[in-house]
Amino acid sequence: MTGSASCFVAAQNIILEAMSKLDPERPRREDTPQNASALAPDHRRGAGDDGLGLEFPFDFVPEPGEARPIVAGIHWVRMPLPWSLDHINLYLLEDGERWMLVDTGVRTDETKAHWRAIFDKTLGGRPVSRVLVTHHHPDHLGLAGWLADHFSAPILATRTAYLLARTLILDRRDEPPAEVLEFSHRAGLSAAMVDKQRKGGWGLFARAVHPLPVGYRRMAGGDVLKIGESDWHVIETSGHAPGHASLYEPDRKILLSGDQILPLISSNVSVTPTEPDGNPLDEWLHGLARLRALPADTLVLPSHNAPFYGIITRLDALIGKHVTRLGGVADMCGTPATAIDIFPALFRRRVSGLEFGMATGEALAHLHFLESLGVVRRQMEQGVARFKRIADYDAKALVARLDTITEQERMTAPWAV
Ligand SMILES: [Zn+2]
Repeated sequence: MTGSASCFVAAQNIILEAMSKLDPERPRREDTPQNASALAPDHRRGAGDDGLGLEFPFDFVPEPGEARPIVAGIHWVRMPLPWSLDHINLYLLEDGERWMLVDTGVRTDETKAHWRAIFDKTLGGRPVSRVLVTHHHPDHLGLAGWLADHFSAPILATRTAYLLARTLILDRRDEPPAEVLEFSHRAGLSAAMVDKQRKGGWGLFARAVHPLPVGYRRMAGGDVLKIGESDWHVIETSGHAPGHASLYEPDRKILLSGDQILPLISSNVSVTPTEPDGNPLDEWLHGLARLRALPADTLVLPSHNAPFYGIITRLDALIGKHVTRLGGVADMCGTPATAIDIFPALFRRRVSGLEFGMATGEALAHLHFLESLGVVRRQMEQGVARFKRIADYDAKALVARLDTITEQERMTAPWAV
């Protein structure tokens, strides 16, 4: 969609020009390593995830257990993850005489050991005011209960994120519930794969997350949080996770983006058994379109990869990728297709192992979105859902709709420009 290479170079020049006049707290372009991809290798890159045109202002990545100051009052922490996505970024914010933690890492002894090093080396005995979690996924919220316990500090989260996490922690059983297996069958998984899923057990979430306290402090989209001397606006979006919170500080134009914007990875957007008829891609695109109302020279502090400049470029690339892929999916539905059947339109390489579940959810998200546009219609046959194209896919109309959302946000959001 928008954001051809030339537009984007022009936009970058404007951004850099503006940055050169900014306050000294903001990192300078001269510090920018040219090879962004060398900073943050990852396995889930696809088209448009090459970091092209983004500026990565820091030429280092913190070691686990180390907190590196990046702008006044904000420290960058990196923790290992035991998955193909092998790291998460956390941030420590000075909150007056105390610290506020943003996200926590997954529940492993290794992460706890790194946290203990940070308690000693960085927090310096100062108390923790709040443990903020951007969303309920275990890499973000896994140790929130443990940290809250340790510091007698409240957890700050959206209501949806907190309640969903509490629910999932309590959901322990030996086998997946029947409706989960039906969900997989409906998406087109073979009987052998469904059987493998049955034997895989249930309750991974509870293992990856420390128990949460019974109460929390609620934040909601539109709230303004006072953190130290700064005002941070809560921007609540969905699609990757219900009730995902990003935080934006307009004075210095800094966005703590969670998983809502990542520079080199496309966040997973999945239909899940929790909402088997959900339309998360609609929510996801809506969120991306809203965030385009932020200033182009915003410094983005994401949960994976590295901090970067180039938010509009990145949002355009993320939106453009989905808009294009939806066309490919619609084409494949010329013959009625299951979620599994359309993998070639979405993923360039063979999907296997743990990624299979996420890929299925993502395929369903594209199909349900096209269904909501009236482009495909669902046909049920022996418990399997196939989607058949019944109308043309109008990419231009979709782009126009998203542009309208950005425009509305510019007119109404207090943080917009
Ligand atoms: Zn996430």
